[in-house]
Amino acid sequence: FSTAAALDEPITPPVLINYTQLLIDGKFVDSASGKTFPTLDPRTGEVIANVAEGDAEDIDRAVAAARKAFDEGPWPRMTAYERSRVLLKFADLVDKHSDDLAALETWNNGKPYEQAIKIELPGFTRLFRYYAGWADKIHGLTAPADGPYDVQILHEPIGVAGQIIPWNFPLVMFAWKVGPALATGNTIVLKSAEQTPLTALYAAKLLHEAGLPPGVLNIVSGYGPTAGAALASHMDVDKIAFTGSTSTGKIVQELAAKSNLKPVTLELGGKSPFIVCEDADVDRAVELAHFALFFNQGQCCAAGSRTFVHERVYDEFLEKAKARAQRRTVGDPFQKGIEQGPQIDSEQFEKILRYIKSGIESNATLECGGDKIGSKGYYIQPTVFSNVKDDMLIAQDEIFGPVQTILKFKELDEVIKRANTTRFGLAAGVFTKNIDTANTLTRALKAGTVWVNCYDVFDAAIPFGGYKMSGIGREKGLYSLHNYLQVKAVVTSLENPAW
Ligand code: NAD
Repeated sequence: FSTAAALDEPITPPVLINYTQLLIDGKFVDSASGKTFPTLDPRTGEVIANVAEGDAEDIDRAVAAARKAFDEGPWPRMTAYERSRVLLKFADLVDKHSDDLAALETWNNGKPYEQAIKIELPGFTRLFRYYAGWADKIHGLTAPADGPYDVQILHEPIGVAGQIIPWNFPLVMFAWKVGPALATGNTIVLKSAEQTPLTALYAAKLLHEAGLPPGVLNIVSGYGPTAGAALASHMDVDKIAFTGSTSTGKIVQELAAKSNLKPVTLELGGKSPFIVCEDADVDRAVELAHFALFFNQGQCCAAGSRTFVHERVYDEFLEKAKARAQRRTVGDPFQKGIEQGPQIDSEQFEKILRYIKSGIESNATLECGGDKIGSKGYYIQPTVFSNVKDDMLIAQDEIFGPVQTILKFKELDEVIKRANTTRFGLAAGVFTKNIDTANTLTRALKAGTVWVNCYDVFDAAIPFGGYKMSGIGREKGLYSLHNYLQVKAVVTSLENPAW
C-alpha cells in the first residue's frame, strides 16, 4: 500500500469551486435560512467549501419553480426534438468541461481521478446522448374496444419529479435520474447527497448554458431528514425517485404514501453474490471478483460482496485473491495509477472498521488488510476474509467498503440457495465456461442483474434495479422512461361514422 507519508501531502486539485449556492428557477441563490454546511475532502477530512444548506423552505421554493416551469412551459410544450437538442448540447458541453468535473468529483468524493475521467464522465455523457435519442421517440398506443370507440393511449410527462441521490457516484446518479425525467418532458427538484454537493451544481449550470429553461431543473443541496424528507413528503411533487440505503428508502416510501401517494422508485442496497464455478479460469475469476468488490473503494450498491468459490478451486483462488488485494494501489486519488482512494467520510470509515472487527470476532480468517492507512483522511487497507459463513454479519450486511468476503461451496443447488438467502436482490455475478451452468444460475438467481463472465457493465440501455429489498422499479434503458410518464386513455365515440 502507499506509504502514510505520501498521503500526508495531498496533491492540489486542478480545479476551482465556482458553484456553492442552491440553483432555483435558473438562478444561484442562498438558502432561505442563510445557513451553509461544510463539504469535506475525504483525503484529509478538511473543509473544501461551504455550501448553501437547503431545507423545507428551499424545497418549497424549488418545487414552486418546477411547478411553474411545468404548468406554464416552455419545457413540456417544446417539441421533443428541441428537448433532445438541449440534452445533446449539454453532453457536448460536459465533454468540454470533463477535466474540471472529474477533478471536482475526485476532490469531493475521493474516487481515483483516472476512474472519474475515463469511466464516469464518458458514462455520463453517453447516458444523456442516449436519453436525447429517446426524447422524440416516446410513442403512444391505440387499443381496440368492444364498441364504436376510438381509443388513444397517451404517454404524458408526470409533472414535477423529486429526486434524491447518494454520494458514491454523484455524477452518474445525476445522469440516471435527470436524463430520463428531462427526455420525457418533466421538471425536477434534485437533492444531492450532503457529502457530495459540488458536481451536481456544476452540471446543472452547464445544462442551463445548453438551453434548459429556468425552473426545469432545480438543485437543493442539504441533509436527508430536512431537505430530503421535505421533498419526499411534498404535496406538489408528482413522483419521487431515490437511490441510497434500504432503511432510508423505506422512510422515503412512507413519506410519499403519507403525503400525496406519489409513485416511488427506489434503488437500494445489495449483498450481491459473485459465484466462481469449478471450471473457472482462476486468474480471470480472481481479477473480476476483485474488480466486482473493490471498484470505487467498495462503495457500490452492486458490489459483488459475497464471493462464493467452488471447493475445487478455492485454495488457488484464495491465495491469488489475497495477492491481488495486496497489490492494489491505494493512495491520493489524484495520483496516476491509483486504484483506491479514501472512503467517503468518517462515518463510513468507522462503520467499515467496525465490520472488519466483527469479521475477526466471528472467526472468519483475516487474510490481509484489516486496518486504516495513514493518520489523515479515510484510507482503508484492501481487506480479504476467508472461511466466511453465511450467518456472519460480514456476509449479511452491506459493508460498502474494500472488504472481500470469500465463502466456499460444493454443489450448484447449494450455492443457488445460499446466494438467494438474503434480503437483497440487486445483482449477481457468475463465472463459468459451461453454458448449462450459466443458464441454470441466471434463471435461478433472484437479482435484477446477472452478469456472466463480466461485472459492472452499466450501459445506458441496460435496465438496473433490484428484487426484494434492493428496490422498486428500474433505471436506465427503456424501462426508466415509464417512471416519468403518466398513461392517459382517451376514448372517443365513433357512433355516427360517415362510412
Ligand atoms: P442514505 O440512504 O442515508 O442517503 C442517501 C440519500 O438519501 C442522501 O441524499 C441523503 O441525504 C438522503 N436521505 C437521508 N435521510 C433521508 C430522509 N429521512 N428522507 C429523505 N432523504 C433522506 O445513505 P448514507 O447514510 O449516505 O449511507 C448509508 C449506507 O447506505 C451506506 O453504508 C450504504 O450501505 C448505503 N448506500 C447505498 C447506495 C446505493 O447506491 N444503493 C448509495 C449510498 C449509500
